[in-house]
This record gives sequence, structure tokens and C-alpha cells, in this order.
Amino acid sequence: QPVVAVVGRPNVGKSTLVNRIIGRRQAVVEDIPGVTRDRVPYDAQWNGRSFTVVDTGGWEPDARDRAAAIAAQAEIAVATADVVVFVVDAMVGSTDVDEAAVKMLRRSAKPVILVANKTDNTAIEMEATSLWSLGLGEPYPVSALHGRGSGELLDAIMDALPEAPKIVENRPRGPRRVALVGRPNVGKSSLLNRFSGEERAVVDSVAGTTVDPVDSLVQIGGETWQLVDTAGLRKRVGKASGTEYYASLRTASAIEAAEVAVVLLDSSEVISEQDQRILSMVVEAGRALVIAFNKWDLVDADRRYYLDKEIDRELRRIPWAIRLNLSAQTGRAVDKLAPALRKALASWETRVPTAQLNQWLTALVQATPHPVRGGRAPKILFATQAGVAPPRFVLFTTAPLDAGYQRFVERKLREEFGFEGSPVEISVRPRK
Ligand code: GDP
Repeated sequence: QPVVAVVGRPNVGKSTLVNRIIGRRQAVVEDIPGVTRDRVPYDAQWNGRSFTVVDTGGWEPDARDRAAAIAAQAEIAVATADVVVFVVDAMVGSTDVDEAAVKMLRRSAKPVILVANKTDNTAIEMEATSLWSLGLGEPYPVSALHGRGSGELLDAIMDALPEAPKIVENRPRGPRRVALVGRPNVGKSSLLNRFSGEERAVVDSVAGTTVDPVDSLVQIGGETWQLVDTAGLRKRVGKASGTEYYASLRTASAIEAAEVAVVLLDSSEVISEQDQRILSMVVEAGRALVIAFNKWDLVDADRRYYLDKEIDRELRRIPWAIRLNLSAQTGRAVDKLAPALRKALASWETRVPTAQLNQWLTALVQATPHPVRGGRAPKILFATQAGVAPPRFVLFTTAPLDAGYQRFVERKLREEFGFEGSPVEISVRPRK
């Protein structure tokens, strides 16, 4: 999601403008004692496009050197934003502080949109033309308070935003795509047969969808699912042919084609290197993950306790995966599969509202700041969710974070927002 930063001297009306841009859907946070209103991001939409608008707020009111303060603020805006909205008070005109900020802004390649705020009438609009002298092009005359000119401004912001990735949001959604994978003999065919009821219950067609002939449409938990690339599972004869290399390619392409993977493991055996490789494929492909321990009927009660410990250790890199103990043979817990798939997919597509994300983050870094290294501690300025499926987050920081601290943030993010059954990507964008 693109980021628009609003900068300018105190009292030029930045907060009012941000309120205007977000349409007061979320009230701009009041000043809370001890918490600076610095860099608060909000979700906004215009003409069907979503973006994040960052209210760069004010700096410390007692800042001695205002020119330096605004330069620092502008620097942050330049580093984190896709578009900078530079607000000037049309009644006051440009000041030397504004000129200092412009110098900084122009050194960057970021598009800057100049707003002459408080242009409440045409007389002031005439005055605003003098702002051409700032060298930022045409000033947009706006009255953030009354709404005058805000539509034109938003259009200009949209034009300056980077090209939106084409997301086909409303494609008619066919069945969810599931990869049923695992090494030979873990029970994939047995499980598939349980769902397809000896082939008869296989749904042949679902309105409006085309299904690859190698896929199977099956009913699981009252819902139709598309199990990708099950051709090999159905023709049991084909199983002996092909090398392990070929099988592994096939597994990788099934995972790639799927939204969620069910990795089948054999509970009567230890987790092997091959099992781990398949799990890694799912994580690296960024797919939702359900781990099904099949043949649970073979595990006797004594062993279960130790098995759980062993499994925790083997799967410590992916504690977020949803685990099920089932038996394709007896049918035990097979009914748990559909709810697990739904849960994993819901996590995979979760979007955390920007304001909520940053409220949580502010509290987290206040309670546990980044450790000091070389006399300074990198600061996290704010975060946005850059995408879903899987959820991807970007942390804007003053410097690269320690790997350990980044893991800590991820763990806490999961504690707060769940994401059970889904990988989560966090990337750090240090200010340059
Ligand atoms: P695939 O290679 O992963 O497709 O595995 P298969 O479905 O062919 O199963 C391999 C063997 O494990 C067969 O002999 C199955 O009968 C057996 N099997 C599959 N699921 C279970 C289970 O839940 N419990 C037990 N005891 N055996 C199972």
C-alpha cells in the first residue's frame, strides 16, 4: 500500500488536512501526554484506491531550532513516503523554514505536492500564486477546514502514486485450492480416497470454474475444494515411476498452485529430512499450512506424550502451523481438516488496519525498546501491511534492526493478531 506523508510547519493545518483526506473515518488521535503525535499513519481511500497517509504531526513544541526540526521531519517523510504533501499556510506565504524544508525535499526523487492551505476564498487564492517561487510547481489551493479544493488535491496525489499492482479483487471465487503433499506412503491416496468416496463423490464441475484435469474437486466438510495435482495419487500405478527429483518438482509445483498446503506426515515414523524439505517448500512459497499427522491409530498412548515433545522440537521453526492428528484409515479427526483449512486461509488473508497495527507497535516498542548498539538504538517509525496472502508487513526504521529484535517483533505480532496457519513476512526499510 503506497504511503503519502504530510509535512509542514506547525499550525499550517496538517492534522485538519489529514482528517479531510481520511474523511474523518478515524478521528486523528488527540495528543496523549507522553506520546508524541509524530508520524501517525491512517488508512485512506480515494477513487477506489487505498493508501496510507502519515500525519507527520509536530515535533517537540519547544524545539529550539525549527529549521533543523522540519528538515529532520522532511527527511523522514522522504525516506518513508511514495508521495510527499508539503503544506504551507497561504495566509502567511513561504517562510525561510519552508525554504529549508524544500531544499531537503527537492534533493530526493520523491514527488512533492505543494498545498496552499487555508485558501478559504478567491482572494487568498490569488495570494497563493506567489508560492510558485518555492520551485515545487503549481500550488494546490485548499481549505482543509471547509473542504475547498480537496478533491483536486486528492486527484493529484493519486496521479503521483506509483502504479497500483493489478489485483483482481472480485474474480468469481471458485473452490479454494489445496495441495495435499507428503513423501511416499504417508497416506495421501488413502486420505484423498476418503474424501472422494471411491471416486464417486468427486464433483465434476462447479459453475464458472475451469479445473485442471490433474486436479480433483472433492467435498470436505460440506464445501468443495480443489485438490491440485492429484493425478499422480489417483493412478497408483504411476507411483513407482519417476525419480525422487521429479516427485519433488511435482510437489513444489502443486504447492505453488495452491493457496493452502496440507503436509501429511506419518505419525508412526520420525520426521525425516524429506518431510522437512516439503515443509520448507510451503513456507518459502508463502502458502498457508496445515500439518496432518496421519496414521495416528498406530501411535499408542505411552508414545503420544514423547511424540508431542519430539514434534515440538522438530517443528520449532514453524510453531504457527496448524497441526492435526488423524487417521485416513479409521477416519479419526478427518472432520477437523476443513475447519483447519478455513482457519489457515483466514489467517493468510488477514489485513490489520494500519491504525490498530501502529497502536500495538507503539506500545510494544515503548515496553521493549530495541537494544542499544554502538551507542544508539534503531527506532521503528511506523509499520504498514504491504499485502496479504500471506500477510506482509513493512517496518520503517531509522536503521537496520537486529535479527533477534525482528524475530521478537514477529513473535509479538503473532501473539497479538494470530495468523495461525499462515506464514508472515516482515521486512525492514531503514531510512537512508
Ligand atoms: P501415499 O503414497 O502418500 O499416497 O500413501 P498411501 O495412501 O498409498 O498409503 C500408504 C500406506 O499407508 C497404505 O498401506 C495405507 O493403507 C496406509 N495408511 C494410510 N493411512 C493410514 C492410517 O491412517 N493408518 C494406518 N494404519 N495406515 C494408513
